Amino acid sequence: MIKLASLSKYFGETVVLDGIDLTIEKGEIVVIIGPSGTGKSTLLRCINFLEQPTGGTITVGDLTVDVKRASRADILSLRRQTAFVFQNYALFANKSALENIAERLLVVDKWPKEKAHQKAREILGKIGLAEKADAYPASMSGGQQQRVAIGRAMAAGAEVILFDEPTSSLDPEWVEEVLGLMKQLAAERQTMLVVTHEMSFARDVADRVIFVDGGHIVEQGPPSEIFQNPKDPRTKDFLKKIL
Ligand code: ADP
Ligand code: MG
Repeated sequence: MIKLASLSKYFGETVVLDGIDLTIEKGEIVVIIGPSGTGKSTLLRCINFLEQPTGGTITVGDLTVDVKRASRADILSLRRQTAFVFQNYALFANKSALENIAERLLVVDKWPKEKAHQKAREILGKIGLAEKADAYPASMSGGQQQRVAIGRAMAAGAEVILFDEPTSSLDPEWVEEVLGLMKQLAAERQTMLVVTHEMSFARDVADRVIFVDGGHIVEQGPPSEIFQNPKDPRTKDFLKKIL
């Protein structure tokens, strides 16, 4: 249901993604691991055109986009089918938790305010922050802010949620509550593509782990295989450093 074919991204002369082929099934939880600077964020950002990819095609649901010929409408559709959770939450500082979650429903999906706020309240309940509806980001912990950001992604009803190191900028004490919410989503079989260094999350939750290095998928497989029996020396080397 998500398919990347020969997806490439150059920054000037620098090849950051070198022909990525990747298919993700509906309901699949895929974790991407790999050293810094190898194009993990760029890969996620190309899927919804936060970065303009250089070549290849992107399929999400029944829409296939040749990235070189993507129209404005194609890009909007891809963005509608995807939701992004950033390392730094990226919440609107001047909006409450409820308004942050309702924003996309109001602006992108043009829901009436009543309906959008009702949906946002429902989501706040699901993420365990019902009592924070009127709180502003600055008054919430990092963990709570990131849960709101995930709630915002949930509200979108997107086909896939893209997570880019969602716990990397959190104080250690907030990591578990964010991973817990992600596990809850995974249990509901929300399709997820997650870049993370949380190997325990990858081990417990991922259907598939993908090791990326130098703009290539070096190796992929179920977590048991990748962690216990990595085949490529680069995967072995990376795991030795991080585990
Ligand atoms: P990762 O997320 O795996 O750490 P990134 O996708 O952030 O890696 O970056 C991959 C490479 O692309 C890095 O070498 C980075 O310097 C380069 N890069 C990322 N964004 C840009 C940009 N906007 N302009 C130029 N180079 C970039
Ligand atoms: Mg990154």
